[in-house]
Amino acid sequence: AEADSGQELTDGFHLVIDALKLNGITNIYGVPGIPITDLGRLAQAEGMRVISFRHEQNAGNAAAIAGFLTKKPGICLTVSAPGFLNGLTALANATTNCFPMILISGSSEREIVDLQQGDYEEMDQLAIAKPLCKAAFRVLHAEDIGIAVARAIRAAVSGRPGGVYLDLPAKLFSQVLDADKGAKSLVKVIDAAPAQLPAPSAIKRALDVLKSAKRPLIILGKGAAYAQADQEIRSFVEKSGIPFLQMSMAKGLLPDTHPQSAGAARSTALKDSDVVLLVGARLNWLLSHGKGKTWGEPGSKQFIQIDIEPKEMDSNVEIVAPVVGDIGSCISALLDGIDGKWQAPPADWIEAIRSKKDANIAKMAPKLMKNSAPMDFHSALGALRTVIKERPDAILVNEGANTLDLARGIIDMYEPRKRLDVGTWGVMGIGMGFAVGAAVETGKPVLAIEGDSAFGFSGMEVETICRYDLPVTIVVFNNNGIYRGTDTDPHGRDPGTTVFVKDSRYDLMMEAFGGKGVHVTTPDELKRAVDEAMDSGKPTLINAAIDPEAGSESGNIGNLNPQSVVKKK
Ligand code: ADP
Ligand code: MG
Repeated sequence: AEADSGQELTDGFHLVIDALKLNGITNIYGVPGIPITDLGRLAQAEGMRVISFRHEQNAGNAAAIAGFLTKKPGICLTVSAPGFLNGLTALANATTNCFPMILISGSSEREIVDLQQGDYEEMDQLAIAKPLCKAAFRVLHAEDIGIAVARAIRAAVSGRPGGVYLDLPAKLFSQVLDADKGAKSLVKVIDAAPAQLPAPSAIKRALDVLKSAKRPLIILGKGAAYAQADQEIRSFVEKSGIPFLQMSMAKGLLPDTHPQSAGAARSTALKDSDVVLLVGARLNWLLSHGKGKTWGEPGSKQFIQIDIEPKEMDSNVEIVAPVVGDIGSCISALLDGIDGKWQAPPADWIEAIRSKKDANIAKMAPKLMKNSAPMDFHSALGALRTVIKERPDAILVNEGANTLDLARGIIDMYEPRKRLDVGTWGVMGIGMGFAVGAAVETGKPVLAIEGDSAFGFSGMEVETICRYDLPVTIVVFNNNGIYRGTDTDPHGRDPGTTVFVKDSRYDLMMEAFGGKGVHVTTPDELKRAVDEAMDSGKPTLINAAIDPEAGSESGNIGNLNPQSVVKKK
């Protein structure tokens, strides 16, 4: 642009876009509206990929998973107050999961918001975002946009990754600046996530504990997947000969079919191990807090933990050998330490795991091979398991209750960062956001395996998937409800509280937007429909009819669900 004087000008809109582009950020996920409509338009005009969603939470989830997959902060762009709040759930979820993302929200005028004079979409967004993310910043002057974006990027990806909030009041966008001055105000972040080397003494302590083990176990978490130290991790696991477990989103870091995988003997491995090396996995509820029945005799366990976050150590139980640093550096140091002078774990431990694993796999096998209607979770997942075996580079998105718990156990993963799911919170609603984010960032085919209830939280985004013509295949496990499709109202007035319209046809939703819809009732039909969809690369939704009786309440975590013991008089 040029002012009357002939001087080149820039403005807030362009500075935001230029600052993102300068830092290698090429994609924005959002929902347009006041005051950021033009920001999206201009970003697209400037060559950025701008993916417009139907609801901010789904855009936020797409940004979060982009962060997990790329180690660059995913960007979510929302309007003020309600749009911001919709995006905030995804920001909080990203922070909880250690995914780097930046929620950029337009906001109303400070002068009016602070005096609470009732502006359009008035809300003190910065204050509300603060406790739900790693860092929150507001920019009032266009010349500060460059430094603000730099701070946001660094905050999101350095140390333990997480969500960052960037508040941009409406007035900022049209502030005009001399173009040259604007360009000079931008900051290219150098070494945004610096390596953090572990102390040699910490490495020695960890190796001493590991060497003393009779029944060692390695647990790989999604931090290990995020770190993209795939080769180092594999070498270390293989050189050490130690059995390993992979947390849900770490599956595929090494193939689940690897001879050292203890996946199918998880309970035995957790209960009977004596030394456990945690790599980017937290001892939270997903690992029963490192104590209790799951972990065998009290006091029988010694934990070594690798994490970039020092405060994670001793969060639930004593960590005898804390190793603080980035996983790539820590694993490399451990690898150096065992080079040429390492004794494989005792044969009876390896054998105990192997025999348990073989027995469990043999017990499961027949359930996965039934080919009849109605399908249950096992027979349907048996078919999808073969799909992933034949297409190991496809990305699997997975949410639901039984659909999640059983798919996690049944579907083997073969490559890192291919399994994306409900994460630390076990949140429902990530499905379509993750599917879009994964497809856009990687260009790989995506298979989303969705419980019918889980799908409902983000189902409208099938329009987005069709609009951008993304290679996403959605399979809805339709068992007529939450957990099961069989609840009834004792008074006979309303449907039971956990059931949906019986025999719904989710596939027809897809057809409404020009995608392909298929209805299947047997595992063979399911496999054929998924193969065809993935070969075509076209947006497809497959409605897979599952026996409404097949599920169990709360899936595998019924123990967390309080139930009334008082009988009504
Ligand atoms: P899971 O749910 O798979 O067990 P969590 O999300 O609980 O995994 O734990 C991931 C851990 O990984 C977090 O404590 C986080 O601080 C850590 N982490 C993330 N990225 C890195 C990294 N690059 N280096 C070291 N630790 C990391
Ligand atoms: Mg269901």
